[in-house]
Amino acid sequence: MTISEKVAYLKGLAEGLNLDTEKSKEGKLISVMIGILEELAMSVEDLEENALNLGEEIDVLSDDLADVEEVVFDEDEDDEDYDDDWFEVECPACGADILVDDEALAEGEVECPVCGTRYAMELTEDEEDEEETEDTEEE
Ligand SMILES: [Zn+2]
Repeated sequence: MTISEKVAYLKGLAEGLNLDTEKSKEGKLISVMIGILEELAMSVEDLEENALNLGEEIDVLSDDLADVEEVVFDEDEDDEDYDDDWFEVECPACGADILVDDEALAEGEVECPVCGTRYAMELTEDEEDEEETEDTEEE
């Protein structure tokens, strides 16, 4: 039973008592109380309906926000690729993305996690001699 239904039931009970709501003080009191209960029941049910609608709107907003976060945080991660000391290269053998981090740079080689092939780091800046690993071969 909803609150409205309970109040309607109560109203029916009161009417069954055949109370004199005009001359009897008690009858008048009960009649006024039931009127107030009817208003309260309608108010509460309106509030419940509003709360449900708000909940649905919040769900929609939350989904939209998740979409926005996805875009914003993806951009941030792209920026961090350059700020942090790691980057991605493409495996020449299988085309998978290989993560090159500090550790790989220090070792001077990186292993493809997909096909397992190891590569010497091809640093094109001021460490080119490491790439060829022919330091022992003095010309
Ligand atoms: Zn590979």
